[in-house]
This record gives sequence, structure tokens and C-alpha cells, in this order.
Amino acid sequence: MANASSILIVAISPVDRTLLQPLVKPLTSAFRCRIEVTRAVQLDGSFAFNLSRNQYSSTALITSLLEKFEDFDGRILGVTSGDLFVPVLTYVFGEAQLDGKVAVVSSHRLREELYGLAPDPNLLNLRLVKESIHELGHAFGLLHCNNYLCVMHSSTGAEEIDVKTDRFCSTCSGQLLSKLGDN
Ligand SMILES: [Zn+2]
Ligand SMILES: [Zn+2]
Repeated sequence: MANASSILIVAISPVDRTLLQPLVKPLTSAFRCRIEVTRAVQLDGSFAFNLSRNQYSSTALITSLLEKFEDFDGRILGVTSGDLFVPVLTYVFGEAQLDGKVAVVSSHRLREELYGLAPDPNLLNLRLVKESIHELGHAFGLLHCNNYLCVMHSSTGAEEIDVKTDRFCSTCSGQLLSKLGDN
């Protein structure tokens, strides 16, 4: 079982590294543990690229992070700017091992430019914060939540991410606290 005491943020290329540091503070307050951005290691995501889909396999990235950080005793959040997919879906914002060690998120579909709008770096950061907390929430064993304001509410479009907050509802928060206590 992964330790709750730290979460390591790992860049996966292609990646805009300026997106990583703004995650530290919100993740620290969400999970009340040490958050660290790795500088030494960056995962080259090209092996997970699927030529016919023009996307990266999130599951392959998770597997690779698991191998690479086999000896690391905390949880891992992989962050990429590449477009992610799982076979049954057109795209995903991220994927996580439920009650596991590794989560990955992508900034690709969180950018306003993708929808023909002007770039909005603050909105991009906020969306990435929400999706990072959401995927790590899965890694801490949380399931999707019906409360549309809760960060564990499932979002299929960027506008749905904007509706929810970056916080756990009281139910999810209680579950998270008991999970954190288990570790
Ligand atoms: Zn989810
Ligand atoms: Zn909730």
C-alpha cells in the first residue's frame, strides 16, 4: 500500500513544465501531505503514443510510472500535455489506479484554445488542479460522486470541470480522511 505522506509530481513529455509548480499548493491543502515536483526525472511519453489515434495511452503511462517508481513509497501524479485515451473512450482528462499508487492527468483538453477561445492560463491551471485532485482522489480509493460541486464529480467536458469546485464534499472528505488514516 502506498504511503499517504507524500505525492510526487512527474512530468511526462510532451509537457509544459510551467504547469507543474502551480499544482503544489492546492494539492498540499487537498491531501495534507508533502507534494514534490521531480526535477531529475521526466518520463518520455513517446512509447505510449498511438499513431492511428494521434493520442497517448494513459494506461501505458500508468504502467510505466509504476515500474519506474517501484521503490517510491508514496503516490505519483504524472502530468502531460499530450492528449490521453483509453481504448473505449474518445479521450480522457486523466486516469488513475483505484485505491492505487499512480494517477495521470493531461492539460491538452483543458486549454481554451482547443475550443476556439483565447488562451486563459489561470483557467487552465484551475482545471488542471481539479482534475489532478480528482484523479488522485481515485488513487486514494474515492469513487465518483453525485454532488455536482464535489471535485469527485465526473466531468466529460471542460465546461463541466468549471461547474465543480476544487474541493471534496463532506461525504468524500470523510472517506478521504479515513483512507489517509489507514496509511
Ligand atoms: Zn473519475
Ligand atoms: Zn463528493
